Amino acid sequence: MTKIVGLTGGIGSGKTTIAKYFKSLGIPVYIADDEARKIMQTAEVINSIKETFGAGLFQGADLKRDKLAEIVFNDAEKLKQLNSIVHPAVKSHFKQWLFEHKESAIVIYEAAILFESGNYKDFDVIITVTAPLESRIQRVMDRDKTTRDKILERINSQWTDEQRVSKSDYVIENINIEIAKKKTDKILKILSIKQNEC
Ligand code: ATP
Repeated sequence: MTKIVGLTGGIGSGKTTIAKYFKSLGIPVYIADDEARKIMQTAEVINSIKETFGAGLFQGADLKRDKLAEIVFNDAEKLKQLNSIVHPAVKSHFKQWLFEHKESAIVIYEAAILFESGNYKDFDVIITVTAPLESRIQRVMDRDKTTRDKILERINSQWTDEQRVSKSDYVIENINIEIAKKKTDKILKILSIKQNEC
């Protein structure tokens, strides 16, 4: 049986960086946000979004993602509606992906809101990536050329590191990337040993 590992962490913690490191070690990695972005371009999802939010959110065939993000960020009910369209589509796509990787002993599912979405219950193991708040803010400011206030707004809408850590099996502290990679190697070794014992 494939061991399904959920990999999460707050904004700017470095979870995608760690996910890519897992990938470089030959572990299949599913980056949920990237896949969701692609799935949102499928006819089925586009039609549902049009039905729910109106055609005004589209410029020709293109979804105005920023506009949609703004709407759902300020309206919990609208966010719920969007999630009820996107989450089942991602779930079924991941199921298919998992089937295609059924020969792998371990796969990684990376998502920012593993806990907030309630998805964490679907995983065999959960790893949280952490980093000091100030480093996270600085990294995202450098990466996205955005403001501190906007980042803080997103951070405050997600779980805290303490909450995530309390529900995780393993934690990777990502301050120095080389140390974080060593911790990743160590976790992978433990998971591989446990897998062989099953
Ligand atoms: P988000 O939730 O916003 O997608 P994330 O948790 O996936 O963020 P990454 O995209 O992996 O985080 O990393 C954020 C930025 O910080 C990237 O530009 C990445 O290259 C950089 N970064 C990651 N780890 C470190 C580190 N240990 N030291 C310095 N910079 C880092």
